[in-house]
Parts: sequence; structure tokens; C-alpha cells
Amino acid sequence: MKKCGRCQEKKPVAAFFKRAASFDGLQARCKLCCAKHARSPKGKTTQKEYNQSAKRKTLQKKYKQSPKGRASKKRYEQSDKGKTAKKKWQQSDKGKISSANKRHRKKIAQAAQAVRER
Ligand SMILES: [Zn+2]
Repeated sequence: MKKCGRCQEKKPVAAFFKRAASFDGLQARCKLCCAKHARSPKGKTTQKEYNQSAKRKTLQKKYKQSPKGRASKKRYEQSDKGKTAKKKWQQSDKGKISSANKRHRKKIAQAAQAVRER
């Protein structure tokens, strides 16, 4: 059991999110209080600021390169949601430019390869 720092109620450990940085490995607030905070205007601002921070970007990059992150990406790409999103992106202007660039880069690489083999 652990006491929530917000609502002061004693709750089982399962009612708290994990937090590696704290001494007991758990968040000070219970899940319910975390959810309430996240929905509040202040919580939304904090989340937005965190999402745009360099720390988050570094962590995200690290996660994406980890085996877990790659597996997650693969799972998403194979899901219906991921497939729809990819199709939508490919049909957008940005996607069209990107795939044209990809084809162009491939052509250059093949030409370079041919020169090297000669
Ligand atoms: Zn609480």
C-alpha cells in the first residue's frame, strides 16, 4: 500500500504508475490523480511543453532505435491504422515529394554502383 501525494488515500501499488527516478519506483500521485491532472488546463500545458522539449525528442529517438521501439513501429505499420496513415501520407504532397526523392536517390546509387563496377 502507498499513500497518494494528492488525494492522501492509501492505495495498492498497482494504482500507481511506475517512475524509475523515485526511491520506491512509483509516482507520488495515484493513477486517478495523474489522469485528473493530465486533463486539467495546467496539466495539458505541462504535457505540451514536455512534448516539445529536447529531452523528450532525445528519449523518443533512443526508443525508436531500441529493439522494443523497432518492434512497436513494425506492429504499427502492419496494423490497419498504420496502413491507412501510410497511404494517406503517400497521397499527400509531402509524401509524393518524399517518394520521388527516394526513387531519385536509388537511381543515383545505382549509377554510382555501375561506375564503381566498371
Ligand atoms: Zn490520488
